[in-house]
Amino acid sequence: MTPVTTYEGRRVALFGLGGSGLATALSLRAGGADVVACDDDPESMERARGQGIATADLRAADWSAFAALVLAPGVPLTHPAPHWSVDLARAAGVAVIGDIELFCRERALVAPDAPFVAITGTNGKSTTTALIAHILGQAGRDVQMGGNIGTAILSLEPPAAGRVHVIELSSFQIDLTPSLKPSVGVLLNITPDHLDRHGAMENYAGIKERLIQGSDLAVVGIDDGFSRAIAERRTGPTIRVHVVQGPGEGGLPIDGLTARGGGIFEGDGRPVADVSGIGSLRGAHNWQNAAVAVAVARALGLAEEAIQAGLRSFPGLPHRMEEVGRRGRVLFVNDSKATNADSTEKALTAFRDIHWILGGKAKDGGIFPLAPHFDRVAHAYLIGAASDAFAATLEGAVPYTRCGTLDEATRAAAEGAAASGAPEPVVLLSPACASYDQFRSFEDRGNQFREMVRALP
Ligand code: ADP
Repeated sequence: MTPVTTYEGRRVALFGLGGSGLATALSLRAGGADVVACDDDPESMERARGQGIATADLRAADWSAFAALVLAPGVPLTHPAPHWSVDLARAAGVAVIGDIELFCRERALVAPDAPFVAITGTNGKSTTTALIAHILGQAGRDVQMGGNIGTAILSLEPPAAGRVHVIELSSFQIDLTPSLKPSVGVLLNITPDHLDRHGAMENYAGIKERLIQGSDLAVVGIDDGFSRAIAERRTGPTIRVHVVQGPGEGGLPIDGLTARGGGIFEGDGRPVADVSGIGSLRGAHNWQNAAVAVAVARALGLAEEAIQAGLRSFPGLPHRMEEVGRRGRVLFVNDSKATNADSTEKALTAFRDIHWILGGKAKDGGIFPLAPHFDRVAHAYLIGAASDAFAATLEGAVPYTRCGTLDEATRAAAEGAAASGAPEPVVLLSPACASYDQFRSFEDRGNQFREMVRALP
């Protein structure tokens, strides 16, 4: 745990006790702050009291006594409207911050030169964060990984000389971190997302830009207009990362790294690393994640051989194109995290001879955008609420079977793939749907699939 000492002897209000909230309260208390916590959920309040944290209805509190309001990132700061606790704090002139801000202040106090890598972007944050942490860890570095992935930042070991913090940040977390100044800031990409919570696209991009502007060194993917403009506006040291998608596209001559066909190259064309043939880093989107990780690892002083070894041994994250088994020639892949067509497109373009399990609770637009990749699909196996809608889209283009449940689909797809003449047919669970009609979460759906594959004859 990282005790937060910067509020020692002062009163701090905290709203939002789910997720990282309780960890934050415990860190503040360990550092000597007088924390008063609140949540809409009485059970969360009860749990906090069980850990010795004082709770109160902050609507009725004396706000002039608070030195800060620490807000959980899931609670609206601006859109669609500020939460009532934010209004009360602002009216009393109390700063509104998050747990990442507490970490940054603690780092500035105890180990200002400790390496701090902060990663954001619309897509690929978790994969890139895990990959950077893996490469550094394999090379023998003392690494702490967390934030928006896995462990809450204040539950990690404290900043210390020689210890690297590799932290995934959502835009909500950046928005609550006014003094964010990582030693390396990473921006992967920016595409429309969470606009309900950020208002216009410009606001969303502006929040991500703050991370880049504050970084000693910035690593920026320049394959979308917003990110490219941010890289251009930046004046400090910047490594730009460009991915060449198709064979027809020429590479931009850049003074950073270019990924092409799984290879990662210096601006002058010198090869630096290679991810072709690495199962956990399939697909052009993962070339971006890998190239960014290579840039960060080099900036932290790792040798190219150590970086290549780290890339090669990366196990990947569960539910993102995760290889869960082989039966003879057939490869089974769990891509349950793909809850929309955009994500599923990444998986469809990474494989051929696909026996595709899809369906669930459909998103707007369904699977229409995937039609250009239907030629990669040998057969589709439909599950869940979207079956009728998806059958209509597939009609005449892809042979399909209505399977109803994941269990039935997994058996049918395994049989279909085994009977195909293809050299390496793939059974791919990439649902392009939310899971809630049949499962608790995408993790639950992916875990069940993994078990079903293991139980196959
Ligand atoms: P995040 O943490 O940002 O949600 P993840 O690493 O969990 O990202 O990946 C989620 C999904 O996003 C993946 O399953 C894949 O479909 C897609 N994805 C991953 N990396 C990228 C990238 N660099 N660009 C675009 N899409 C990506």
